[in-house]
Amino acid sequence: MLRRSQQLGLKRLLSTIKLSSTTSQYPTGHVQPNTQPYLTPSFINNKFVKSDSQTWFDIRDPATNEVVSKVPQNTPQELEDAIAAADKAFHVWKDYSIIKRQGIAFKFVQLLRENMDRIASVIVLEQGKTFADAKGDVLRGLQVAEAACNITNDLKGQTLEVAKDMETKMIREPLGVIGSICPFNFPAMVPLWSLPLVLVTGNTAVIKPSERVPGAAMIIAQLCAEAGVPEGVVQMVHGKHDTVNKIIEDPRVKALTFVGGDKAGKYIYEKGTSLGKRVQANLGAKNHLVVLPDADKAQFVNAINGAAFGAAGQRCMAISVLVTVGPVTKEWVKDIVEDAKKLKVGSGFDSSSDLGPLINPESLTRSHEIIADSVKQGAELLLDGRSFKGEGKFAKGNFLGPTIIANCKPGIRAYDEEIFSPVLSVVNVDTIEEAVQLINNNKYGNGVSLFTQSGAAAQLFNKTIDCGQVGINVPIPVPLPMFSFTGSRGSFLGDLNFYGQAGITFLTKPKTITSLWRTELVEDLKPSTSMPTQE
Ligand code: NAD
Repeated sequence: MLRRSQQLGLKRLLSTIKLSSTTSQYPTGHVQPNTQPYLTPSFINNKFVKSDSQTWFDIRDPATNEVVSKVPQNTPQELEDAIAAADKAFHVWKDYSIIKRQGIAFKFVQLLRENMDRIASVIVLEQGKTFADAKGDVLRGLQVAEAACNITNDLKGQTLEVAKDMETKMIREPLGVIGSICPFNFPAMVPLWSLPLVLVTGNTAVIKPSERVPGAAMIIAQLCAEAGVPEGVVQMVHGKHDTVNKIIEDPRVKALTFVGGDKAGKYIYEKGTSLGKRVQANLGAKNHLVVLPDADKAQFVNAINGAAFGAAGQRCMAISVLVTVGPVTKEWVKDIVEDAKKLKVGSGFDSSSDLGPLINPESLTRSHEIIADSVKQGAELLLDGRSFKGEGKFAKGNFLGPTIIANCKPGIRAYDEEIFSPVLSVVNVDTIEEAVQLINNNKYGNGVSLFTQSGAAAQLFNKTIDCGQVGINVPIPVPLPMFSFTGSRGSFLGDLNFYGQAGITFLTKPKTITSLWRTELVEDLKPSTSMPTQE
């Protein structure tokens, strides 16, 4: 049914909302109980617009469970307006010269740097991770934006004189509107995995941040506008399934980028591709770290504690399984336990905290259940983080301390499931070949790491392991964005990965142009009806 304003042919009256932070003023602590929640706006045509929606979701500070803000389920009309504006803007933006788009990208990079602390602080408030870790979240996204500034080299076409006076050139053109659906765990990095390349390649973006952590993406949108991105080129919409379905189904959206869990990812990939769209979907993970007896023990113990428990284990590249090879390395687990006990669990705003809370009470409850079930299934609890309790205003926070479960194997919940919390499962095997077999039989293929001093062992591992991102003495081997994020098997659906050359190829389509400009006069011109071979 048409709204009354449409029936009357009137433009909707849009009320605007200011962002709750500025470059110099942003949260440095948790909000007081019963503070009026901030209403997250949508970002439409470079303006922060208040939704007309009757449905708003609470965003709770994971450290206190106080409601800090609300995010709307955008109405069908608002989603329609956002996509229509992005489609309209595409026809203007794609004709901006590449040098102009590059200039805007440079400015965007500068603004991201200037606003790094501000974005990080909003991440701490909504997502819970420590401030230092939140800065890393922004920095890894910023690096994608920096790499995108090289578009004048990366988008160069190819030309060849294919016959006398005949030349074929191949260029890559933008697709149109790109829809992006983002997860909660990297509120800045994941939107920035695609947005800078979407922009420099001449596409436009409709982004749905996670409904649990939209604040960072809103600041990023503001910085795009300040950098000179024209109206409509970057649109931010909110909500849950209805928003995702509109983005998938609308024919003006030509490609989808998704990062998140398996269920949503498979759904979006299958539905998107069945409608003929390009989809790149990064999914869940179970990342193993294998340690050989010849590894540098101190380096290894340090690395595993950081990689398993940093960000409270809520990283798709967190190490969640330790594979000890042989009896010697099995003993080293005691050292990991001792070091893990020293990690400080607490507020992300407290600079002495090593890990913050989990995103919500459901995630905490599920982690507790998996730990309990695994013990019932025969695993051995070496360190139990369930006993950690926050004090004072943190008593209701979703905290779980580092947890280490030994004697794990396939069939035990802690090994089989992606837990996404600071829980490390330990599996012991006898040989490196056995370790490789275990990992290759796991459904996921995001990342893997080997700690060793042996070049030969590393070489064997590199050649036989079936995971997309391999680290040798590097626990979290996410490549910098001159390469791509190359998760594979059950951790990725699609053909072309995020960012790097693959990202540019994903966001563009090839066009070949063959031209003939004769330099000699040809006498005796007559039509040829046979297949042109250009010889
Ligand atoms: P999620 O799948 O619950 O949500 C991701 C996005 O999909 C959100 O925007 C959400 O609104 C939407 N969504 C959720 N369920 C949906 C459904 N049924 N239909 C349509 N849309 C839906 O993921 P999350 O909990 O926000 O993030 C954690 C997950 O993301 C973990 O599994 C983690 O491994 C994964 N992740 C993967 C990578 C990677 O690169 N492989 C990176 C970060 C996070």
